[in-house]
Amino acid sequence: MTTRVWDYLPEYRNEREDLLDAVETVFGSGQLVLGASVRGFEAEFAAWHGLDHCVGVDNGTNAIVLGLEALGVGPGDEVVTVSNTAAPTVVAIDAVGAVPVFVDVREDDYLMDTDLLEAAVTDRTRAIVPVHLYGQCVDMDAVLRVARDHGLAVLEDCAQAHGARHRGRTAGTMGDAGAFSFYPTKVLGAYGDGGAVVTRDPDTDRALRRLRYYGMEETYYVVDTPGHNSRLDEVQAEILRRKLTRLDAYIEGRRSVARRYEEALSDLAAPDGLVLPRTTPGNEHVHYLYVVRHPRRDLVLKELLRHDIALNISYPWPVHTMKGFRHLGVGEGALPVTERLAGEIFSLPMYPSLPPDLQDRVIEALREVLAGL
Ligand SMILES: *Cc1c(COP(=O)(O)O)cnc(C)c1O
Repeated sequence: MTTRVWDYLPEYRNEREDLLDAVETVFGSGQLVLGASVRGFEAEFAAWHGLDHCVGVDNGTNAIVLGLEALGVGPGDEVVTVSNTAAPTVVAIDAVGAVPVFVDVREDDYLMDTDLLEAAVTDRTRAIVPVHLYGQCVDMDAVLRVARDHGLAVLEDCAQAHGARHRGRTAGTMGDAGAFSFYPTKVLGAYGDGGAVVTRDPDTDRALRRLRYYGMEETYYVVDTPGHNSRLDEVQAEILRRKLTRLDAYIEGRRSVARRYEEALSDLAAPDGLVLPRTTPGNEHVHYLYVVRHPRRDLVLKELLRHDIALNISYPWPVHTMKGFRHLGVGEGALPVTERLAGEIFSLPMYPSLPPDLQDRVIEALREVLAGL
């Protein structure tokens, strides 16, 4: 059988009873939409972050859409972010009518190069969306400094960084709001789609609640400003409540998978060979993805396929080079680090329930392929 980077079935086998009980709880509750499970999850996810407010939404993309709208971003505004991200970050900025503006990423941790932020700000800039990519945080002190100097909103894209910490602060608690995805592969994953926005600001919380509910107050059937239907599903919320109690253990599981890779592969690490992920000082990594880098990436992946190992690239095409965003006029060569990375990175299997024998198979195959290059 072909080895893939992610599989939820080992977790499902471990947690089946609890997950099915979650479904039973909702089906038997008498309320299928915005009921006790969504309310409970929102309170518990906010508390897990030491915050008072969390609004459950239908997915991570709409968490960014609603987050931006709640922070006052609209048509024509510029939003500074990165091109080395999952396309939905940028799709969400586009969806509110705003114009994405990209800064390059750093060579060492592949995250937003905050030294480039200041130069990207114009009179039309309204917000910054730092992406805590692969499971570790952007240098938020630098982001917040630029935001404060120019009066910009900060929406953290936390879709890959549940529980990641930066100088003691948790992803999602540093900016004006934090947008989360609970897509099944994520560090906290549902059994379907889900998302949330956390904030410490009660007005942002109220705006988000209206925006996810057509633009109405939940108890009052009048729309002042049209919104969306972006509610978190009650069944997914109950599953997420159960899984939130295990989030620390999931993160610990990911860290031990990462340590095993590190121990088994660090002797191969070299600037012109295999480059392993680096945790930036001050960061606590949650290893959503284990992204390595090799100058002959395509050949390595092809050889691994012959060992029945199919690996992913996250992401093979920088967003600014995609047809849907070429109208932004960001030419090839404008983001050199981002563009170089896209040709060299690939991801090793990473999830907390990754069977050790499977991980060993990947390590052995990778060592063999690299030795034979
Ligand atoms: C997964 C992801 C999203 C989108 O989340 P969905 O729930 O799939 O809509 C946004 N940004 C990043 C960085 C992601 O990884």
